[in-house]
Amino acid sequence: MSKVIYVDNNATTMVAPEALGAMQPFFSERYGNASSMHRFGGNVGRDLDEARAKVAALLGARPEEVVFTSCGTESDNAAVVGVLRANPGKRHIITTKVEHPAIRSLCQYLGKEGYEVTEAPVNRQGELDVDFLADSIRPDTAIISVMWANNETGVIFPVEQIAELARANGVMFHTDAVQAVGKLPINMAESRIDLLSLSGHKLHAPKGIGALYVRRGTKLAPFLVGGHQEHGRRGGTENTASIVGLGKAAELAAERLDEENGRIRRMRDTLEQRIIQKTPDCFVNGHPDHRLPNTSNVSFEYVEGEAILLMLDELGICASSGSACTSGSLEPSHVMRAMGVPFTAAHGSIRFSLSVYNTDEEIDFIAEHVPDIIKRLREISPFARERAPTRAKLDYGTGF
Ligand code: PLP
Repeated sequence: MSKVIYVDNNATTMVAPEALGAMQPFFSERYGNASSMHRFGGNVGRDLDEARAKVAALLGARPEEVVFTSCGTESDNAAVVGVLRANPGKRHIITTKVEHPAIRSLCQYLGKEGYEVTEAPVNRQGELDVDFLADSIRPDTAIISVMWANNETGVIFPVEQIAELARANGVMFHTDAVQAVGKLPINMAESRIDLLSLSGHKLHAPKGIGALYVRRGTKLAPFLVGGHQEHGRRGGTENTASIVGLGKAAELAAERLDEENGRIRRMRDTLEQRIIQKTPDCFVNGHPDHRLPNTSNVSFEYVEGEAILLMLDELGICASSGSACTSGSLEPSHVMRAMGVPFTAAHGSIRFSLSVYNTDEEIDFIAEHVPDIIKRLREISPFARERAPTRAKLDYGTGF
């Protein structure tokens, strides 16, 4: 394949060259253990402190509120399980129908372990039913966990409002901000959020590093029990190189946030408009405004997402299927189902997710080819209009 046009940045991102450069010495001359008494290790401890300060700065947090983990999934698990273990008398969890499996599967697992889980619904535009969520709070509710932004649609949830609600009811609030950090301004100093998860590989740091923000004074049992690392909040020798890489990536993200909100949003909007203008029977999933600036989830009626992806792949374009049928099943994703996207459209949904490394030329190239791909597929698609399943039978409608 010649050139790759990578627009799958909600799946993972390229490691920023600056982050890679910052990491390299930690694989060779700076391999010390940060916990060692000697200066060779102690100096590495200082590098970790610096990285922690940079991540804290991106979040508007105090450095001591940042706990390094191995990934977003671990941060999510550590937050929810840590709160439940610290509050053994409370057995109720509130979350949403559209969380990433890192929260959703965890909550389903906890449900089987005897916890009670309430999932708040979303409407057709992917917006959360906050009234439902508020009405679900009970005296035994331990934690509310609501993602800041959805990975499939980019829809942004009113996490600050929910955090206030949780605080007023004496409930802990966690947000999975894996897709939000580096894309949206975040200021924990002025927030009521108790716990926040992030993942390095979504913001141009390497895979295998994440962080959990833990507000000072939060009652949280450690998830990984072991050594005294991370002030006893997460055992295990620190992944020094990746932590330093995350620190550098966080610093870059803070510098580039305006660019992310401006140039990337313009490229995303241009891509959407050009595709929609030239393609009949297609629409954007998710609220038009309350959305991450980099994400576009477009449904093309009567074609299969996988077929579109294969044809994009032929051209070197890396995108993602919004219906994410990982098991090869024909079930649309839980997010599309929760939003009530019709079967015929959920199947043909494609997610384009941009980054600072995308260019106008790449967007032009994609916008030029997508309408033609859809036209060709519709000519041969088994989902073609006349054979499409009736919506009435497959209506997932949630009303709200
Ligand atoms: N939460 C969200 C919203 C995500 O998009 C992802 C990854 O796709 C995760 C959690 C999991 O992060 P990680 O891959 O670092 O475990």
